Amino acid sequence: MDAPAQPLDETLIRSFAGIVGDRYALTAEADIAPYTVERRGLFGGSTPLVLRPGCTDEVSRIMALASETRTPVVPQGGNTGLVGGQMPDGSGREIVVSLSRMNRIREIDTTSNTITAEAGVVLQTLQEAADGADRLFPLSLGSQGSCQIGGNLSSNAGGTGVLAYGNARELCLGLEVVLPDGRIFDDLRKLKKDNTGYDLKDLFVGGEGTLGIITAAVLKLFPRPKSREIAWAGLNSPDEALGLYRLAQDRGGPSVTAFELVMETPLEFLLRHNPSAQRPLAERYPCYVMLEISSVRSASDARELIEDILTAAMEQGVVLDAAIAASGQQFSDFWALRENMSEAQKPEGFSIKHDISVPVAAIPRFIAEGADLVEQVAPGARVVCFGHMGDGNLHYNVSEPVGGDSAAFQALYGRMNETVHALVHNLGGSFSAEHGIGRLKRDELIATAPPVATELMRAVKRAIDPLGIMNPNKVI
Ligand SMILES: Cc1cc2nc3c(=O)[nH]c(=O)nc-3n(C[C@H](O)[C@H](O)[C@H](O)COP(=O)(O)OP(=O)(O)OC[C@H]3O[C@@H](n4cnc5c(N)ncnc54)[C@H](O)[C@@H]3O)c2cc1C
Repeated sequence: MDAPAQPLDETLIRSFAGIVGDRYALTAEADIAPYTVERRGLFGGSTPLVLRPGCTDEVSRIMALASETRTPVVPQGGNTGLVGGQMPDGSGREIVVSLSRMNRIREIDTTSNTITAEAGVVLQTLQEAADGADRLFPLSLGSQGSCQIGGNLSSNAGGTGVLAYGNARELCLGLEVVLPDGRIFDDLRKLKKDNTGYDLKDLFVGGEGTLGIITAAVLKLFPRPKSREIAWAGLNSPDEALGLYRLAQDRGGPSVTAFELVMETPLEFLLRHNPSAQRPLAERYPCYVMLEISSVRSASDARELIEDILTAAMEQGVVLDAAIAASGQQFSDFWALRENMSEAQKPEGFSIKHDISVPVAAIPRFIAEGADLVEQVAPGARVVCFGHMGDGNLHYNVSEPVGGDSAAFQALYGRMNETVHALVHNLGGSFSAEHGIGRLKRDELIATAPPVATELMRAVKRAIDPLGIMNPNKVI
């Protein structure tokens, strides 16, 4: 029979602290505070103990003790997650295990094109290490200065490079994971081909810390592009954006490394609230595409290709105007416009958020029908739509009406989500494209996933974490 849960008293806290050393066992309120709040302030929690292990063996011993004493454990990386998965609950019984000290790059292999890194390596540090070895690690997110590889893998992060290189799952070849009972699953392999039974690592990628703690990973590297070009194009509608997408794919294939859609409203918000932002084109257009082309062939290849695509698109009347970044500075400025869009929504009042995906071909229909539905639910509300169109993934946010009753608008959160997600469902899409489930969307997953899917997920969870101590009440 399972041992009953032990209270998290001083003795048990001392036992956990003994594993990592007192310096790395945080118990003072001020030290713990940063681990119990996240940047949007949506999910708070409390914990009596934050452990900062320095190696896989310490993580293993922490989990063995947690299992023996039935202590719930919440893994935490850079704490940039947007669905509350990294937060302890309010019970005061869950302990947080922060991976930030496990930040070593173990190996770069430029022949196999792999990098082996510990879970706590910050994404940007990993990108820079790859760059230093004349390679590209293409995962790229707005939070890359603080999110960590373990968090990226656990949330199967997406970002702006997915179109050409895939999301975190597709970039992962091997994993090292500490299981809830303390055993180490060592699958740190560099193989692109390996058909030896079920792909177990894929359970942990996107598992949001509910099945184990990722301690290291083998990730794919790519040749570093010799040229990269970016253009902002003004268009009449998402239908034209789809036309441009087809054209870019036909002519550019894998050289199309980003295809981001931005409607006029988010750009307008950004120009209003961010003094350093400048309109990328002389005129306003209902819709914009930010197109990035990369080439490993030569320093001029990307330029030739992007010009070829835009010329053809203008001749066909798909694109009305376009600007290609004329300098490195403008290249960064163009990207900054896209990356600062979420932030620029805040001064416009309360916003109801959606992180959805639909088949790329269904994007124009989603945007058109979505606008009608939003107006029905909250007349006057402003749709703030932008995102990774090439992946079918849009950040479809709805800002409160100007001069409206904010509290009444906020009360519509659930209804708005249901309405937008029903449209997404009808179009064969997903209500959580890249941010995951965590705490925020758990009930919706349970309510809307096919029963066979939830049964299978529960069976997997029970098989790997029979005591239910691994990031409880998240995902499923
Ligand atoms: C400004 C901004 C921009 C963003 N842009 C994007 C984007 O474009 N695309 C995107 O996908 N996301 C984006 N995000 C969300 C977030 O950055 C990602 O989800 C990121 O991958 C989380 O990494 P993290 O290290 O911060 O993880 P955390 O927030 O610490 O944790 C996230 C989840 O992973 C679990 N976890 C963390 N580390 C481990 C580990 N070692 N082992 C097991 N479980 C673990 C946690 O328990 C939690 O469930 C953005 C966030 C911000 C703030």
